[in-house]
Amino acid sequence: MIKSNLPGLTPVNEALDKILQFAAPQQSVEMVRLEHALGRILAEDQVACCDVPPADNSAMDGYAFRSQDIATGDRRLKVTQRIPAGSVGVPVLAGEAARIFTGAPIPEHADCVVMQEQCHQEGDLVELPESVKVRQNIRDRGEDIQKHSVVLGKGTRIRPQEIGLLASVGVAEIPFFKPLRVAVLSTGDELVDPGLSLNPGQIYNSNRFMLVALLNSLGITLVEARSVEDDPDAVRLAVTELSESCDCIISSGGVSVGEEDHVVNIIEEMGRLELWRMAIKPGKPLAYGELEVEGRSVPFFGLPGNPAAVLVTFCLIVRPYLLKMMGAKEYEPNYCHAIADFDTKKAGNRKEYLRAKLVQGENNTNLVQVFPNQSSGMLSAACWANGFAVIEAGSVVRKGDQIAFLLFSELLS
Ligand code: AMP
Ligand code: MG
Repeated sequence: MIKSNLPGLTPVNEALDKILQFAAPQQSVEMVRLEHALGRILAEDQVACCDVPPADNSAMDGYAFRSQDIATGDRRLKVTQRIPAGSVGVPVLAGEAARIFTGAPIPEHADCVVMQEQCHQEGDLVELPESVKVRQNIRDRGEDIQKHSVVLGKGTRIRPQEIGLLASVGVAEIPFFKPLRVAVLSTGDELVDPGLSLNPGQIYNSNRFMLVALLNSLGITLVEARSVEDDPDAVRLAVTELSESCDCIISSGGVSVGEEDHVVNIIEEMGRLELWRMAIKPGKPLAYGELEVEGRSVPFFGLPGNPAAVLVTFCLIVRPYLLKMMGAKEYEPNYCHAIADFDTKKAGNRKEYLRAKLVQGENNTNLVQVFPNQSSGMLSAACWANGFAVIEAGSVVRKGDQIAFLLFSELLS
């Protein structure tokens, strides 16, 4: 790419659609025990081999009996058995009640449970309330999950509740897609790792650690995090070596139009540059390409150097790409809408992601406040924020307008 002949800025949605087309979902599968399943992506539909619950059972501590027995006349029944959870009772006969506890199977012939607070037991006789409904306080067999039904589909990302659900149908080992293997490359002569002292002109490498953490949050295996100076040969060597052992490379810095920016040239040299420069703020210079390495295509994301731009472009572009590649069936975040508690000055020509905070306003409204300084170099704004306020290109926001908001909880896991 001749840098004086710069491509125009691709709109964010178009860029994402284009990049997602390159994300070929992972095919390799491994068996994983339930204990280690958090964040993994199911490689096969999971079919229940039992009903949950496996039997009709009591939703209350109380008494189980035949409702017809108290429909007329005497409402006292004889307590003939006691059924705690884990035990199985015997059939309830006419005039009898079973003392029953939450989770215990309903004994045969009983058709309702009354909670103990509404009953009065004296000796072996229990007095029951006037109105009872057939099936009250009974949890039906299979009301949560029916045997042979698909409980979770291929491509589901496992959260704690899915782990609980899989356990409830008795599976201990599940087929998951293998984790992706990703390498992180930081470019910049000025970068120093935390823990060392800074010389004049140097800064600490924050992108490396933030990117590694972002990958961790997706359950991705880090192959290597390497730093390299702004030298084309050094960048080329690093990219070549890293690409041999990973499914994707994510670099930061050196992707702009300056003389010290070599990443775009290296992508073109080693493969194909598919996208460069988006209409996004921050994060305009993002590049995506495919490297050709020993007959294999290795995807390459060249993220900008500014840390806030790294966070935005990772969340908006790289994350959905990686999730799709990991085999996830849902890979795009859910937006919510809220009321702007700020004004913007003038319309921009790029879609803007402001580091912002969703707060509770009066009368249960959700308000969006923005950090006053939105410099793309600043991470303190992102730490103050709980998400991004989304400002469309060409639009001005006035206090009271409804705007789209992306919570970090939709993006950082
Ligand atoms: P560049 O795109 O390489 O021109 O970098 C843009 C800005 O981001 C410069 O101020 C760099 O010093 C800064 N920067 C680049 N890489 C990093 C990094 N890994 N950590 C923190 N800041 C960085
Ligand atoms: Mg640089």
